[in-house]
Amino acid sequence: MSTQTPTLNEIVALAKRRGFVYPASSIYGGLANAYDYGPLGAQLLKNIKDAWWREFIESRQDMVGLETQIIQHPETWVASGHVESFNDPLVEDKVNHKRYRADHLIEAWLKKQTNPPKIDVDSLNLEEMAELIKKHKIKSPDGNPITQPKPFNILFETHLGVVEGEKDKVYLRGETAQGIFLNFKNVLDSTRVKLPFGIGNIGKSFRNEITTGQFVFRTFEFEQAEIEYFFNPKETDWQKLFKKWQDDMWQFVTKTLGVGEASLRWRRHSNAERSFYSQETYDLDFKFPFGFKELWGLAYRTDYDLKQQAKHSGADLSYRDPYTHETFYPHVIEPALGISRAFLMVLVDAYKHDSTGRFYLDIKSDLAPYQVAVFPLLKNKPELIKKARQVFDKLKGDFRTTWDDRGNIGKRYLYQDEIGTPFAVTIDFDTLEKGQVTVRDRNTTKQEVVAVEQLAKYLADKFKQT
Ligand code: ATP
Repeated sequence: MSTQTPTLNEIVALAKRRGFVYPASSIYGGLANAYDYGPLGAQLLKNIKDAWWREFIESRQDMVGLETQIIQHPETWVASGHVESFNDPLVEDKVNHKRYRADHLIEAWLKKQTNPPKIDVDSLNLEEMAELIKKHKIKSPDGNPITQPKPFNILFETHLGVVEGEKDKVYLRGETAQGIFLNFKNVLDSTRVKLPFGIGNIGKSFRNEITTGQFVFRTFEFEQAEIEYFFNPKETDWQKLFKKWQDDMWQFVTKTLGVGEASLRWRRHSNAERSFYSQETYDLDFKFPFGFKELWGLAYRTDYDLKQQAKHSGADLSYRDPYTHETFYPHVIEPALGISRAFLMVLVDAYKHDSTGRFYLDIKSDLAPYQVAVFPLLKNKPELIKKARQVFDKLKGDFRTTWDDRGNIGKRYLYQDEIGTPFAVTIDFDTLEKGQVTVRDRNTTKQEVVAVEQLAKYLADKFKQT
């Protein structure tokens, strides 16, 4: 089995060919950096979100969920600091006016050097970037000189109502987290939560990203699953809590999503890179086809956000301990996951060839778009079709089941391998005579004969083992 990281082109081609991801608006020639999820992709995306929600919200006694608006009161983003400083360093090609992120051009330049100077690009400020660009004459990808880096705010603006003007300017949220802080008091007043507890929220966020072109890794519109975990810093040791969150995140990625540990690493933010209000930040990075990059951020944000939203809104967002009656602002640890990045990670990690060169997607059965495929051996034999339909109807209540009667069985296997269906069930003449079906395993290609009455149990047992 080959576990080499596939190229991004291989992933993009598979995603389009098999209906995971399509370039958006393709009949109009496409829209930069925008993607639609096809039938298989939409299901995989949903399965990842469901797994996250089950693990972090439903199955935990200390967590509750929320679903908040994309457009909130515009003051939200002034309070959070996004209006002022949600900036990326922008440079422009002086000849063709294409725009780039200065840090990304410096990174690309460093990669090309045989003896690159030791530079932590993530920690550079605007002046340091300008100096490096000048000193090393760093050019645009088209070989042209570039402008000085300047801050570019990546928050999307829009207007509510029928008249455009400053008064009704609003923002598409740049993160889902602020919706949690805005509802902190509502949750306290309407539920029985007590510290320490967390609030989770899944939904779309928007960023006017400068650098594009890494498929669904970095898009203007994307989905996040964020948690704010509130605690009393006098009672809970934040370092221990932080470590516990690192373990929980690691567990989700390696066990629930089934991703290999060798493709993961923790990266600690340096003092210069970390947001000023954050006391500790780690990224959980995955080895994407373009290198190790952030999948999931974990930050100790202290009581900054609650205090900011309280200050700007005038609302009392403090917490009153039900036992000691102490009143204070809780601190938070924030695990912020990009769902689209988790989706890309699952595809990349599952992309495998066996020793014969056969390609298959090794997706965990909980996540696979389809868990079982049902094939009638021949499509012009009504008695086979009828029996296969019975098997299909029986399975589809328990498993995500698909039907395929096109082409020969070998081709149908290959198709299901490509979309990651763990098992294929063939209904043949033995099914009619002896009540047996052939079950073929995606990863091993081994086939087993199973009695029809035992089939659902057989599959359920197999799924438990994976
Ligand atoms: P990056 O440094 O890659 O731009 P970030 O540090 O700005 O990411 P956060 O603000 O920590 O990202 O957002 C939390 C998570 O949201 C990230 O870990 C990532 O998975 C996801 N995310 C952020 N921006 C995008 C984007 N443009 N497209 C897809 N996912 C994103």
